[in-house]
Amino acid sequence: MSNLPVDPALVEAARAGGAAPAAARHAELAAEVERANRLYYLEDAPELSDAEYDTRFRELVAIETAFPALRTPESPTVRVGAGTSSTFAEVRHSRPMLSLGNAFSADELRAFDSRVRRGLGLAPAPEPAPELRYGAELKIDGLAVSLRFERGRFTLGATRGDGTTGEDVTANLRTIQAIPGRLNEPLTIEARGEVYMPRAEFARINAEREEAGLALYANPRNSGAGSLRQQDPAVTASRRLAAWFYQFIDEASEPPLATQSAALARLANLGLPVNPESATDLDIEGVIEFIETWRERRHGLPYETDGVVVKVDRLDQQARLGLVARAPRWAIAYKFPPEQVQTVVEDIVAYVGRTGTLTPVAHLRPVKVAGSTVARATLHNLDEVRRKDIRIGDTVILQKAGDVIPEVVGPIAEARTGAEVEFEMPVVCPVCRTPVVRDEGAVRHYCPNLRCPARIAQEYGHFAGRAGMDIEGAGWAVVEQLLQRGLLGSRAAFFRLDVETLMTLERFARRSAENLVASIDRARRRPLARILNSLGIPQIGEQTAIDVAGWLAARIPPAEDEPMGGAAGWTARVAAELNRIAEFEPEAFEDVPGVGATVAAGLVRYFTDSATRGVLAELIDAGVEAERPTIPPALADEAGAAARGPLAGMTLVVTGSLAGFDRQAAEEAIRAAGGRTSGSVSKKTDYLVAGESAGSKLAKAQELGVPVVDEGGFRHLLGGELATGDA
Ligand code: NAD
Repeated sequence: MSNLPVDPALVEAARAGGAAPAAARHAELAAEVERANRLYYLEDAPELSDAEYDTRFRELVAIETAFPALRTPESPTVRVGAGTSSTFAEVRHSRPMLSLGNAFSADELRAFDSRVRRGLGLAPAPEPAPELRYGAELKIDGLAVSLRFERGRFTLGATRGDGTTGEDVTANLRTIQAIPGRLNEPLTIEARGEVYMPRAEFARINAEREEAGLALYANPRNSGAGSLRQQDPAVTASRRLAAWFYQFIDEASEPPLATQSAALARLANLGLPVNPESATDLDIEGVIEFIETWRERRHGLPYETDGVVVKVDRLDQQARLGLVARAPRWAIAYKFPPEQVQTVVEDIVAYVGRTGTLTPVAHLRPVKVAGSTVARATLHNLDEVRRKDIRIGDTVILQKAGDVIPEVVGPIAEARTGAEVEFEMPVVCPVCRTPVVRDEGAVRHYCPNLRCPARIAQEYGHFAGRAGMDIEGAGWAVVEQLLQRGLLGSRAAFFRLDVETLMTLERFARRSAENLVASIDRARRRPLARILNSLGIPQIGEQTAIDVAGWLAARIPPAEDEPMGGAAGWTARVAAELNRIAEFEPEAFEDVPGVGATVAAGLVRYFTDSATRGVLAELIDAGVEAERPTIPPALADEAGAAARGPLAGMTLVVTGSLAGFDRQAAEEAIRAAGGRTSGSVSKKTDYLVAGESAGSKLAKAQELGVPVVDEGGFRHLLGGELATGDA
């Protein structure tokens, strides 16, 4: 029994298509969902609307239902969230923090009720089942958190992370007024709930970001998550977040609580905020009525709710029902459909992005939906345009949930006059006329010309922009002019611009030219994460850049005579190290907390490609230097040890089985001694620690001449005696 949403029509379609196409489609969808997860959970900046995400997720589940072999432990359908970021220390949850199965219709709720009844051995509907009662709570569109209170005092707070391990955001949570520092009773408990951003605060912050030229938050959920997951608690404090609690964990509760409704009352008694808009003692039809009453009313709430969470009320029944892979069987989230309106597609235009991708964008007759006027909507790619059959001139349905990202759902076929025109992807780049390419099996069309002015303008605009080097006064118009006049042969050229040259630009006088030169000068020194983000490395966004920068700071200590804040020398070592890792130790990038294989591959490509690997060095030549970030707490201990320990600067690989250590313990011991661990043997490996039945890694080490030690030798190494390798 699973409570993932399974759509029988999609399952049928997958089955009919056959195994090979299903596997290909599965891989494509899994990649899309993983990318969306990363953008949503780690970068707090999604590109898909929730409805678009949910559609992809459902198709993935359907394909796996048709071909169960595709449901591997790596599939996004069996995992929660997208891990943690290295900005925060990690917290292991006392009990997993789960996701929820979804329902999108009354029938899916009834199907949930049937599964619950079956699971509890109760009579099937429509027989009455008085012992089965449901509670219904508004689903708050925020960020799940778990708070620990010890003898009544708030001591530790974490995000959900991957469900098992979350991020320590205690300091940030303390800035939220709704969260009490002390409970009304001196209990040791855990309370779980949702931190959210009230609508009015969302509007205020986005207005501020727009003013400052920063990317807008997509919705209150992402804005709230972004505000809580800040390195600096002062930033969190400046965003007025709030919270509702809905789960009470008390191993020692005497007498134990019997129901979810009693748990909510208990949380409220202890002084935690509990959403008053809930109902209890319902059967499934009562739940459906509750949902109906909120369908419209919810728009009047001062916070966003994207659905209703339905929970079996009795905790003993919850325990009997248990869990499936990523969600409890005793609860389900009903999701309200997004708000929809009609409008007309006046044109579809392909825009060339920073990576060359041509994205078809619908130009719409402006229309108001879910609180804002929409005139453009991305159609993502040609396949999507064809699948939805959207044509120029079509009357279409446009939808928007709480999202800022609007979605064209599809055309209204009856409204067609025959004058509609199918969109064709341009065969040559609309900007540089280079023939457009589509790689075998890929969905995107792109301009392959690395020197395409559209790409370069975007790259350079990004580089100089607020998320990049933040050169005040170098907006798009200026960057474009500089490019057109051939004054920007490289990024480093920004830093060589002088007053005389700038005075030749339109609308520039001596004074404005001097101002720009001064701001270029100020931009020479920037935090490392900003510099990395400014390069526009595919797959690297703001958060990933922060993660990579923190990891590099832990890895590369400043030289003795260097200030901790960083200096040109340190920056040069960072540049050299990035190139070295990319070439000789590419797997090391996967050690960056929060970075997976795709991002790591992006880094390797960037720092090995002859067109890009030198960019950092050029910037350094032009006087750019990086501020050294503080080492994230999760890496700080390792870095401290790295500077002192007997294995400082060395990389070890552990293989085979050791009597005194399991793999994790061995690797922790290495890190504690200041060394690094790696999953594979390369020329850069200092020692291979080989236990019983070591296999291919041993052979590889012998082939490369890497010293090999056995367990005894390993202990010597940890103790600070250099071993001579043989085993
Ligand atoms: P979910 O948001 O559908 O449901 C689980 C969560 O609901 C819980 O973790 C909890 O935080 C929350 N919740 C709120 N009120 C609750 C209450 N009263 N009781 C219990 N839980 C409550 O599942 P998820 O795994 O967190 O996220 C998946 C969803 O996130 C998707 O369906 C999609 O909407 C969105 N998402 C969107 C993108 C995107 O690119 N747009 C990417 C990833 C996820």
